[in-house]
Formats: sequence, structure tokens, C-alpha cells
Amino acid sequence: MRFHGEVINKMRVTLPAISQNESVSRAIVGAFVSILNPTIEELADIKCVISEAVTNCIVHAYTHHTCEHPGTIYIQVTLYRNRGVKITVRDRGCGIADVTAAKAPLFTTDPEGERSGMGFAVMENFTDRLTVSSKVGYGTTVHMYKSLK
Ligand code: ATP
Ligand code: MG
Repeated sequence: MRFHGEVINKMRVTLPAISQNESVSRAIVGAFVSILNPTIEELADIKCVISEAVTNCIVHAYTHHTCEHPGTIYIQVTLYRNRGVKITVRDRGCGIADVTAAKAPLFTTDPEGERSGMGFAVMENFTDRLTVSSKVGYGTTVHMYKSLK
């Protein structure tokens, strides 16, 4: 795994958990990772996984929040000299009771049935490693690691 060694750049950004920030996070993280000259496919993968993680914060984490107080998404991206990329997406929302169950393909708690339950499966597929830690009532942290060619 190439997620240690010399850090060449690091970004932290916090965004309110509102739906337009899905595309904002894609654009910001995509631009930042472009420093490493990823392939078009690698860049597409990274934009896809950041939007899945951010969408989860918007849709699931802060359901009891109001428009005036939408909750905050904390994004951190670290670029390593050896072309490793580490992306962390954290929220201080409701948390996940059973992370193993939540990560299973097709698992969703969406009552309206608009979601497919594939977000974590996509994040797992398009990265080299995904870890999810969560505590009910405190929030969720998703770490994703990807080695660029
Ligand atoms: P899709 O991502 O396909 O639209 P989904 O969001 O339901 O559907 P996943 O992204 O795989 O599917 O997430 C599975 C479940 O894990 C969600 O239905 C939700 O219950 C829970 N979950 C995911 N992320 C969070 C989060 N940040 N805070 C609270 N619960 C979460
Ligand atoms: Mg999702």
C-alpha cells in the first residue's frame, strides 16, 4: 500500500450538508487530485467516490437538521509523493448502527425507495481500500485510499 511516506500536498475543506455541495465537492477534489496527473478514468473514479460519500452525509447523516442549520461535511485529501491519494469524508450526524450491514450491496435505509443502496459498494470498487467507522449519535468517518498509476 502506498499511503505513507512523503506528503506533497494536503487539503481540508468544510461544506454545509446541502445538495448543491455534492457537485462542489466533486469539482474541488477533482481539481486538487489533478496535481498528480491522474488518468481520465482515475479522475472519474475519484469524483464518483467523493460524491457518493458526500451524498451520504447530505441524505443520511443530518436528517434531523434544518435548512438554517444543515450540518457540516468535513473533507480532507492527502497526496503522497508515491502517487497515493487518501480521501477522508466525515460528518457529525446520526451515525450508523451496523456498519457491516450498511456496506453490503443493496442495503439502504431509505424509506421512499429512491436509493439503490450501492454507495458503499461503489466506493469500495473504485478505490483500493475503504474503511468506515461510525458511532450512533456522534457521526461517521469514511477513509478511501487510491494508488494512481
Ligand atoms: P445509494 O448510495 O445507492 O443512493 P444508499 O445511500 O442508501 O443508496 P449506501 O451509500 O451504500 O446506500 O449507504 C447504505 C446505508 O448506510 C444508507 O442507506 C444509510 O442507512 C447508511 N449511511 C451511509 N452513510 C451514512 C452517513 N454518513 N450517516 C448515516 N448513515 C449513513
Ligand atoms: Mg449512498
